[in-house]
Amino acid sequence: METKKFDLRLMDGEILKRQEDKLTFIPPFSYGERSTHIDYKLVKGFGGDALVPIIKYNIFSEYQDLVHGFSTRMGGTSHAHLGSMNLSFSRGDEHENVIVNHKRFAMAVGYDWERLVFSDQVHKAEIYKVTHEDIGKGITKESDIKEIDALMTNERGIPLMTFYADCVPVFFYDPVKKVVALAHSGWKGTVLKISEKVIKAMGDTYGSSASDILCAISPSICQSCYEVSDDVIKQFLDAFGESAKDFFYEKGNGKYQLNLHEACKYTMILAGITEEHIAMPDLCTCCNPNVLFSHRASNGKRGNLGAVIMLAEDNGIN
Ligand SMILES: [Zn+2]
Repeated sequence: METKKFDLRLMDGEILKRQEDKLTFIPPFSYGERSTHIDYKLVKGFGGDALVPIIKYNIFSEYQDLVHGFSTRMGGTSHAHLGSMNLSFSRGDEHENVIVNHKRFAMAVGYDWERLVFSDQVHKAEIYKVTHEDIGKGITKESDIKEIDALMTNERGIPLMTFYADCVPVFFYDPVKKVVALAHSGWKGTVLKISEKVIKAMGDTYGSSASDILCAISPSICQSCYEVSDDVIKQFLDAFGESAKDFFYEKGNGKYQLNLHEACKYTMILAGITEEHIAMPDLCTCCNPNVLFSHRASNGKRGNLGAVIMLAEDNGIN
């Protein structure tokens, strides 16, 4: 398949003149049909015009009270290896650039950037219940949300955000009880079955039923790109038993290729989610380092992508 590499020099003003160069991912891999589409928004007024792409999940399309999105590298104002849409304050970027990037991404997706709530992500499986008292934590005020890899809330108008560059982001939405959650599921979080824990926490805290919850596994490293050593595989075997053998294949010399997406999906099914309520990813960060931040592809010289989810203010439709 012929693919067109996206030129990072074509950012911001220039990209507007070349709309035909809309993002082409290399190659869109798939566990079936494409699960995502890309929404392009022209954002004006934050340091110049910018075309901001947002990766959205088709499984959520019909829900008008759900706001969600996953960022790309495009449409921001940061430079070099942070270019251009770095959403993290912890990657050595200038504070001002990160704020402009947040303003643009928030405008494009449709939430108030000053109300964002961040996790701090330490590769554990602790879940934090977000309320209106947490609004702005991590972006406009100091955060006391520590050692947290998953956020959940049933309050409207509070955008939750987690950060990525190869690790697996997971979106959760219960359209019946009106609950949203986000989890950071790297290999350690996946071994700890963080998705299963989030689904249980949604039930315990808000009365969500697993049969109602929709899950989307976002762009992250694919099996072909994800080589791991036997110490990682041992932990998967300890956590999942024989089932772990469905998640990897051996290459020899103590090296394996691991499929975090399938492992993550397995933990959702353990929690009672039906297969048709799980959207698998169709883009790999490491296969697409020009358009998505990838830790592996960049040897750690990279910014962070963001996943955001929010229950919209009640508009009377739902
Ligand atoms: Zn890949």
